[in-house]
Amino acid sequence: MSTIQKIKGTRDFFDLDAEKFRYIEQVCSNEIKKFGFKEMITPIFENTAVFNRLGEQSDIVTKEMYSFFDRSNRSITLRPEGTAPVVRAFIENKIYANSIDVNKYFYFGPIFRYERPQAGRYRQFHQFGVEAFGNSTAILDVDIILSAWTIIEKLNLQNIVLKINTIGDLSSRDKYQKALVEYFNKYTDKLCNDCKVRLEKNPMRILDCKVDVNQDFMKNAPKIKDYLSQESIDYFNEVLRGLDTFGIKYEIDENLVRGLDYYTDTVFEFIIKSDDELNNLAICAGGKYGNLVKDLNGPDIPGVGYAFGVERLIELMDRQNVWPSLKINPEIFIMALDEQSKIEAQRLALYLRKLGLKVEFDYKNISMKPQFRLSEKLNVEYILIIGENERKENLITVKDVANKTQVTIPISDLLNYLPYELINAKEGFCYDENAQ
Ligand code: AMP
Repeated sequence: MSTIQKIKGTRDFFDLDAEKFRYIEQVCSNEIKKFGFKEMITPIFENTAVFNRLGEQSDIVTKEMYSFFDRSNRSITLRPEGTAPVVRAFIENKIYANSIDVNKYFYFGPIFRYERPQAGRYRQFHQFGVEAFGNSTAILDVDIILSAWTIIEKLNLQNIVLKINTIGDLSSRDKYQKALVEYFNKYTDKLCNDCKVRLEKNPMRILDCKVDVNQDFMKNAPKIKDYLSQESIDYFNEVLRGLDTFGIKYEIDENLVRGLDYYTDTVFEFIIKSDDELNNLAICAGGKYGNLVKDLNGPDIPGVGYAFGVERLIELMDRQNVWPSLKINPEIFIMALDEQSKIEAQRLALYLRKLGLKVEFDYKNISMKPQFRLSEKLNVEYILIIGENERKENLITVKDVANKTQVTIPISDLLNYLPYELINAKEGFCYDENAQ
């Protein structure tokens, strides 16, 4: 394969796809700001140590990181998830010292994982994510889930299901892990190779193994709910009650444990329900992490957050056909019929652009045919024509493409012939016809 091609598992966004990408960014950041979140922009690479703490047994850390040594022999990693860098920045910049009870941040940007590329799975993808650091309350968890749900609604997505579980606090998890080891030890000959390793290092991860998922012994494995401390049970019930209050429908999924080791108590995913290969894919995933800030040498402050996968949102919105109209074409094309009119076209284009309109003209041709052809390709709504006659008499010809009408008018009247919604400016048109 040629090396002058994109890297496997990456994609280019251009034209309408780039517009869709930015639309999602805009909706997510607009909505989340209403929930009191501020933006955090961190580097896309970090010292590898920042990610190693995420879980020595997690697939992301052991198999999927893009790590390399820089020219000074430092181990550097392209971020494989967004939480650890935000936590690192939260600690390093001592944001926790600002005496705000809950510090809330969002981020948007590329994430890198060496995964097997397939539908909805890339090696460079993008996440919109949020992290809230501060008091550990069920009401905060609920607010976080409400913010994700608000974004899902704003994007007009259909058939999304919230799956939720609790994996308990550390003491509940300890007891549970022991029970799992005892149970799965009876089935070691049936476990896939990855699960054999998980059994030694992180038995909870066996529960979300994609290979062993349908084996009989998985169904009868011990359930976390039988090992939860009373505190964890009360906490989880309070979260569920909060969701009920706001009419957020959920399914409790006892096998939901999440891929990273840092989660405690609430974990959740929003998944797609469909009859194609996107069925059951998560568009958003998150939960509470009681210990990550402390594990990265910060203060003992819990966090809770989630991340949406942007590529999956785009794919789903395509399939569900729920995009608003996103225009990428110019609205107006200016046609010039002689060399001097070309300058005039450029000048008029600049005026209209400053008014907020998207305007294009042909840089070279002065005959009509190629200019019409270009205006057709650009699918513009209006064509303005300037020729010698128009120029001499301060006129302009306005062609309404959809209605197939054409009028020649004084150029100072131009704005009255263009629909008002096209024009952002509230004040009048100040085209200086003497400035030629
Ligand atoms: P995670 O960080 O694994 O919890 O993932 C959060 C969200 O990112 C998921 O719900 C997906 O929407 C998205 N995501 C995760 N991995 C990939 C990937 N390899 N390609 C595209 N999107 C992904």
